[in-house]
Amino acid sequence: MQTGIGSIAYLAASVLFILSLRGLSHPSTARRGNLYGVAGMAIAIVTTLWLNGGEALPAVAALMAIGIAGGAILARRVEMTQMPQLVAALHSFVGLAAVLVAIASYLSPAAGAESDSAAQSVHNVEIYLGVFIGAVTFTGSIAAFLKLQGVVGGKPLLLPMRHTLNLVGVFACIALGYVFLTAPDADVGISSLLTMTVIAALIGVHLVMAIGGADMPVVVSMLNSYSGWAAAATGFMLSNDLLIVTGALVGSSGAILSYIMCRAMNRKFLSVILGGFGTATSTASKTIEGEVAPVTVDEVGSLLRDASEVVIVPGYGMAVAQAQATISEITKKLRSKGVNVRFGIHPVAGRLPGHMNVLLAEAKVPYDIVLEMDEINDDFSNTDVVLVIGANDIVNPGALEDPGSPIAGMPVLEVWKARTVVVSKRSMAAGYAGVDNPLFYKENTRMLFGDAKGSVDALLSHLGA
Ligand code: NDP
Repeated sequence: MQTGIGSIAYLAASVLFILSLRGLSHPSTARRGNLYGVAGMAIAIVTTLWLNGGEALPAVAALMAIGIAGGAILARRVEMTQMPQLVAALHSFVGLAAVLVAIASYLSPAAGAESDSAAQSVHNVEIYLGVFIGAVTFTGSIAAFLKLQGVVGGKPLLLPMRHTLNLVGVFACIALGYVFLTAPDADVGISSLLTMTVIAALIGVHLVMAIGGADMPVVVSMLNSYSGWAAAATGFMLSNDLLIVTGALVGSSGAILSYIMCRAMNRKFLSVILGGFGTATSTASKTIEGEVAPVTVDEVGSLLRDASEVVIVPGYGMAVAQAQATISEITKKLRSKGVNVRFGIHPVAGRLPGHMNVLLAEAKVPYDIVLEMDEINDDFSNTDVVLVIGANDIVNPGALEDPGSPIAGMPVLEVWKARTVVVSKRSMAAGYAGVDNPLFYKENTRMLFGDAKGSVDALLSHLGA
């Protein structure tokens, strides 16, 4: 009876998770999607405690209280621009949990032990896979966290014979897997399992360290996918259907997102997941020619007042400066004067998928004027003024014109085709990929130096006058 009710509750939670993913796919339904996810997780936790709580309930409740308090503090403190690091750090917990649960399941045969030897072998395969995927996810996520936090540099670490090193590591794990599955006693089993854990952990670090700064968005979503598969493996180990379904949802949605981002960045999916396979080792970029032309707020105000087609391209700097609310006001003002204002969003603008969409939605910019890169790229030649707010890599013409550039081949917003491009940033500093940007030296580009919030605030008061 209890198990039957539990299965129905798990089914309901699975459906809510699917509805949640569906809702999160569009800004207008994202809030509802989030609520479905919260409801699904509440059902999942309560049901699991009800089915398995027993004596462990006080300990689980105490640990949950610590987790809830920690989560609430993080949610309040972490800035939107630090989300990728936070996500990477949270993925490392999933990986670590998968490793610990699997090792515990091996050491304590009562938990999840199977009655016949064939079922026990399958259980051992689940343990081994859970530890392998979990260890790669754990250390890979820590490496990604350190890179995104800027503790280690964004440059790819390209060790000599790095692919051979990875292959040797994987073969060693397969060989140790054979030893583990045929182990005559638990001592041999646990030592092969722990040796494999160390090798898998090294593979995780090496895979992520070999990936360059510009490809980090794919790494974050790829680790998201790995953490899903680690959870699914744990679900098989514990015979928990909901964990299998949830893990598979996270694993496959993370893989689809990685694939979409690779396509948006013209990167080969396999190259990125194999740790930068095919990463260009030569970065002999072209020298940039031309002069930088600074512009004042008043001049930008006049340019906008005279324009009939304006496109705003936001990037990471807009998020740092928190300039979105003022930009929304400027948009309203220009539209009320009959100027057609639209936004051009690059798939990897900012520091997390959908970063700009979230900020613009928060600032109440209407969805119908926020366009994806493919929807707006052909319109730049008919645009009077493009306002680039704190974006750099995503508007770098070098990606298309310079085969030696580390971001060569990445599709970008072709803003330089407009009549005038105004770039708001603080200095001539490079963006996340560390590449100089020839856009800033083009004849039709004007540089509006200064913090984006200060610049757009001044622009708004100029337009209001
Ligand atoms: P970039 O990081 O390329 O450039 C941002 C620019 O904003 C900088 O050049 C900086 O110039 C400027 N800036 C910073 N602070 C301010 C401020 N307060 N006011 C005005 N300008 C400011 O950002 P993009 O959005 O163009 O590109 C995103 C990059 O991040 C890509 O390389 C992408 O691969 C990577 N990435 C994306 C992720 C994602 O999921 N979207 C995740 C991880 C990485 P200055 O210092 O001169 O002001």
